[in-house]
Parts: sequence; structure tokens; C-alpha cells
Amino acid sequence: MNNIHSPEEIKSILRQSNLVVLKQLGQHFLADEKVLKNIIEAADLNKNDAVIEIGPGLGTLTHELALKCRKVIAIEKDKKMVELLRKNLERFKNVEIIEGDILERVPVSLKEAGTLNSLNSYKVVANIPYYITSPIIKLFLESSVKPELMVLLVQKEVAERICACPGKMSVLALSVQIYSQPELINLVSKNSFWPAPKVDSAILKISNIKTSAEVRKSLGFKKASEKDLFRIIKIGFSSKRKKLANNLSSGLNLRKEEISKIFEKLGINENSRAQELSLKKWGDLTNFISMLN
Ligand code: SAH
Repeated sequence: MNNIHSPEEIKSILRQSNLVVLKQLGQHFLADEKVLKNIIEAADLNKNDAVIEIGPGLGTLTHELALKCRKVIAIEKDKKMVELLRKNLERFKNVEIIEGDILERVPVSLKEAGTLNSLNSYKVVANIPYYITSPIIKLFLESSVKPELMVLLVQKEVAERICACPGKMSVLALSVQIYSQPELINLVSKNSFWPAPKVDSAILKISNIKTSAEVRKSLGFKKASEKDLFRIIKIGFSSKRKKLANNLSSGLNLRKEEISKIFEKLGINENSRAQELSLKKWGDLTNFISMLN
């Protein structure tokens, strides 16, 4: 891996190209060879892979991906950085740099535009801008053209929240675990970047990504849809101070006694709080409630 840059090199590349660090775009460039190696390993790449990278920046990861995969599509919002990237990665014929905002380039529109034309599957591998971590993950997991795998550098605290177990569940954890199996691969020090972010990071691997039909099947849904599931989860978490039963009762307009009966049938403790329920139990609740209507 000869393309990794030290903080001094990053500074000098930026200076030479007349670039300034745009904090509002979450620019923290990777400056640690070991982390780069760990990301590549976690992505389990092969020569047939097509990869989408979000926020390639100076192209450190892009360069490595280009050597390992069939095709790399990198989407970068910073216009000036795009110019530099195109110049620096010119020799790689398998790299396509798209200037734009990832949130406006949903995978479906990439497919329609022919960018993902012959791809049956793709992976997402990126050191992403942290200010849009949840929207990025949501965008790909809820898309009709889902990736096969995602390996992302994210804030450590966010990775831990996403990988949480019952007791510490959140809407974010559930919205990832509904579709996939998230796993925290490595912790990454904030000093592995330049400029260093305020907090430490982690490599997050999201695998076993399910289609909507597979999600419904795995939760035993008959009438219910993912939309119903998300609705019940949102209602369940609506007031943090209240017990789950109270949130459901007010949000669903059901009497407390009815909620108690449902809980008893499904083996849910009446004093439960939303963060204590497993995905399976949220599925059971959704299934049951969808039958009432
Ligand atoms: N991947 C690079 C840079 C990470 S910093 C590295 O590891 O060194 C995050 C990158 O995301 C920056 O290059 C930033 O300009 C870009 N970015 C920020 N918001 C974006 C958006 N909405 N869409 C695409 N890229 C974005």
C-alpha cells in the first residue's frame, strides 16, 4: 500500500492543489496504513466486485479499491477534489468519479443512469462523511437495489449503537438490524486521520443484507409490511421516559388493557422499555397489531 499519505503529505497535497479542508463536508483524510488494510480485508474483495465509494477525498481508499476490483464508482461532493482525483486516478480505467451529493444519487438513480448497468451486485466501501452516516446507511439498506455488503468507517459511538443488543436498542440499531447483520470490526483512533476528528472511529461491517421479501419472511409477516414495522418501532420509542406499553397505547389508540393482553400473548414483560425489545419481538408485535386492523 504505497498510496497512503502522512499528515505532512496530505497538507502538502492540499497546499499544492490550492485546496482547503472543508469542515462542513466532514473532511478527515485517512492517514493510517493499517486502517486502510483492515477496511480492504473486511470488504473481502475480488476481481469481479463492483464497489461504490462515498466521499473518496484524496483517493487513498479509491486507489486500493481500483487495484482489487473490477469497477469503482466514487461519488464526491467537493468539486475541486473531483478535479484532483480525476487527474490522480487517470491511469485506472476501472474508476469512475462522479461529482455529486450521495444523498441525491440513490442507487436506483445510478442504475437508471446506466452507471450500475451490468452489475448484479455491488459493495459499498467508504470512509464516509460522518455528518450523514444514518442517511447514507438508510439510503442503501432501504433501496430497492441493495448492496451485497457495506464496510464503512464511522464514529465509534455510532458503530456501537448500531451493533447494540436488546437493552440498548434504538431506532437506528433496529433500522440496520432489520435488514442486515452489523458488526464492529476494529476501533480506529482519531489520530489515524488528518485533520483528526473530535472522536474515535470504528470500522463497521454490514453483511447478510436482506431484500424486503426476505425481511418479511424472516419476521413471519403475513399481512404486515416493513412500513408497519417502522411505524410500530417509532411509536414504541416515541417517549423515552415512558414504558413501551404506554407509548403503544397512546400512539395506537388502544386501551392499556388491550396492550397488556397483547404483551401477555407475545411474552413481553409489561414493564418493558422500548430499548429492551429484540427485533424478533418488534416483528411479533407488528404482526399481531396488523391483524387487529
Ligand atoms: N475517503 C477519504 C475522505 C474521507 S472525508 C479518505 O478516507 O481519506 C469525507 C469525504 O466525503 C470528503 O472528501 C468530502 O468532501 C466528501 N463528502 C462530504 N459530503 C458528501 C456528500 N454529501 N456526498 C459525497 N461526498 C461527500
